[in-house]
Amino acid sequence: MIIIWGTRSREVVVGNGSFTCPRCQAQREYVRKRVGTYFTLFFIPLFRIKDHGELIECATCHQKYELSVLDRRPVAGPQAGPIVSEMDRLRATIRRDLEGGMPLQMAQQKLVNEGIHVDSAEHAVTTVAGVGVRTCPSCGLRYISSIERCTSCGATLERRGD
Ligand SMILES: [Zn+2]
Ligand SMILES: [Zn+2]
Repeated sequence: MIIIWGTRSREVVVGNGSFTCPRCQAQREYVRKRVGTYFTLFFIPLFRIKDHGELIECATCHQKYELSVLDRRPVAGPQAGPIVSEMDRLRATIRRDLEGGMPLQMAQQKLVNEGIHVDSAEHAVTTVAGVGVRTCPSCGLRYISSIERCTSCGATLERRGD
């Protein structure tokens, strides 16, 4: 019996995700592959004899990249910098609510209801409200400086001594 052995390069998928493909210039799905040279017997890979490391392959254009391609900044657009834009979106919402006469306490509770930790919610609301926060003398609700009247009980708001 003749034993046929040899070596063969083989790619094993070890993960996937989405990244900015430099060739597509867009957000794409990728597959992460581990490439190795395998010892084969009867053309069946038995074990890896050389490890060539991992690579990233664009699922759309099939261009292959080094792992460092994942560190590239995302292209500008709605998906760029999710954490930063999420904070900006929240701040804009808080500002709109406060300027519309929503008490600080309620704006904070709204954030907590969205799943934001109470400390972060308080910090965000306080930051947006800035200085000159006014307190309702009758119900204790707090408003930004541009609000004259408590939207809850109608009392005239006190201006904190400045
Ligand atoms: Zn691509
Ligand atoms: Zn009030």
